[in-house]
Amino acid sequence: MPTPSYDLVIIGSGPAGSTTARFAARQGLKVLLVDKRQELGAPIQCSGAVSRHALEEVGVTPDAEFIHEPIYGFGIYNEKGDRTVIDYRRLKADEYGPGEGQKPLGYVVDRRRFDRYLMTQAERAGTEVWLKTEGLSYKPDGNGSCEVFLRRFNQEVTVKARVLVGADGLQSQVGKWAGLRTHIRITELASCLQFIVDQVETEGLLEIITGHEWAPGGYAWVFPKGHGYAEIGLGVIPTMTDKNAQWHLDRFIRHSFFKERFKNSRILEIQGGGVPLASPLRTQYADNLILVGDAARHVNPITGGGIHTALSGGHLAGNFLAGFLNQGKPPTAQNLEGYQNCWLEELGNKMWKLYDVKTGIFRKNDIRERDALLYQTMASYFSPHSEYKKI
Ligand SMILES: Cc1cc2nc3c(=O)[nH]c(=O)nc-3n(C[C@H](O)[C@H](O)[C@H](O)COP(=O)(O)OP(=O)(O)OC[C@H]3O[C@@H](n4cnc5c(N)ncnc54)[C@H](O)[C@@H]3O)c2cc1C
Repeated sequence: MPTPSYDLVIIGSGPAGSTTARFAARQGLKVLLVDKRQELGAPIQCSGAVSRHALEEVGVTPDAEFIHEPIYGFGIYNEKGDRTVIDYRRLKADEYGPGEGQKPLGYVVDRRRFDRYLMTQAERAGTEVWLKTEGLSYKPDGNGSCEVFLRRFNQEVTVKARVLVGADGLQSQVGKWAGLRTHIRITELASCLQFIVDQVETEGLLEIITGHEWAPGGYAWVFPKGHGYAEIGLGVIPTMTDKNAQWHLDRFIRHSFFKERFKNSRILEIQGGGVPLASPLRTQYADNLILVGDAARHVNPITGGGIHTALSGGHLAGNFLAGFLNQGKPPTAQNLEGYQNCWLEELGNKMWKLYDVKTGIFRKNDIRERDALLYQTMASYFSPHSEYKKI
C-alpha cells in the first residue's frame, strides 16, 4: 500500500493543533490531525478561562455547548485580602453585561467540550482526524517532505508530510525529535492544582489572589463555573517552597481570608498539571517542522494562560503554512523561520516583554516588595488600559 501523504501532519488536537488544522484545511491543504487521547480534553487539566476576544479573533462563536459561565471582570487580591475590582459591567456598562446588546468579557469554558468543538470545526474544514494515535518520531527526506512515524491503536503507521506541526502541549516531544532546545527550567514550571467545588458564591469575576504567603511563585484563583460550582486552585514554583501544591491549596482554603466563604463547599473533582511560566522557545522551527501552543511555550508568563495564545498561534501557523505551501516553497528550516518572525511580530515580542516583567518581579529577594509588585502588575494587566490586553 502506498504511504498516505499529507501537506500537514499535526500532532496534538488541543486548541493549538485544531486551530492550525482548521485554518490550513480551509485554504485547501490536506491535513491530518492526530491525538494520542481517545477522548479529547480529558482528563481536564485547565481552568478554562478565556476572553471573548480570543474566541472571536479566530472565528469561534461563543456557544452554550462549551461555556460554563460568562465572565465580566476581575477581582485581584493582595496577600492580606485587599482587593482591586475591575468589573467591566461598571467600567463600560454600555458594552459589557448580561443584558440585551451587552456582552461578556470572557468565559470559563469546559475544556472537554471546547476541545471537541474545535476539533469538529477542523474536521468540517476538511481535516482528517485520527484519535488514539501517538506521534513517535519524524525524519526529513531532504526532498521537501518528511516521514512521520505514528502508533495508531496498536499498529505502527508511517505517513508522509510536507510539514509536521508539533502542537503536543507542555511535554512536547516533537521539538526534541528535531533537536530543538525545549528544556524548561524547574524554576519556571508552575505546579498547579485545582478543586472543583460546590457552594461557593461568585460574582461573574475571575478572582486572583497574589502573595507568597498563599502561592509562592504563582497565585491562587477562584473561578466561577456555573450553577454554584467554582474552581479553587493555585500554582506554585516548586523551588520557592518546600511544600507541594496540595499543601498550599489546603492551607489557602482553610486559613486564608476566604475561609468563611469556602466553609460549606465540598470537593467534587481534583485536577492538576504543569504550566510553563517561561519565555517562548527561541527556535520554534526546523526542517519540515514547526511548533505551536504550549509546545513552543506560547504561554503568558504572568498569568499562565495558554488558551488564547494557542488559538492565535494556531491561526497564524495555519495561515502561514497555507500561504507558504500553496506557493510551492520548500519547507526548509530557513524558509520556516518566516513563521516564527510573523509570530514574534503579532504576539511573541509582547510575550517576551511580559517575560521580562515577570522575571523582574521574581528576581526581587524581598518578599514584601515582590508581593506588592505582583499585585500591582496583575491589577494593571487586567485593567482596561493594559497594553497587553490582547494576549
Ligand atoms: C491547572 C491548569 C489550569 C489552567 N487554566 C488555564 C486557564 O484558565 N486559561 C488559559 O488560557 N490557560 C489555562 N491553562 C493552560 C492551558 O491549559 C494550555 O496553555 C493550553 O491547553 C495549551 O493548548 P495546546 O493546544 O498548546 O496544548 P494542549 O491543550 O496540552 O494539547 C496538546 C495535545 O497533544 C496531545 N499529545 C501530546 N503528545 C502527543 C503525541 N506524542 N502524540 C499524539 N498526541 C499527543 C495531547 O493528548 C493533547 O491533546 C491551565 C493549565 C493548567 C495545568
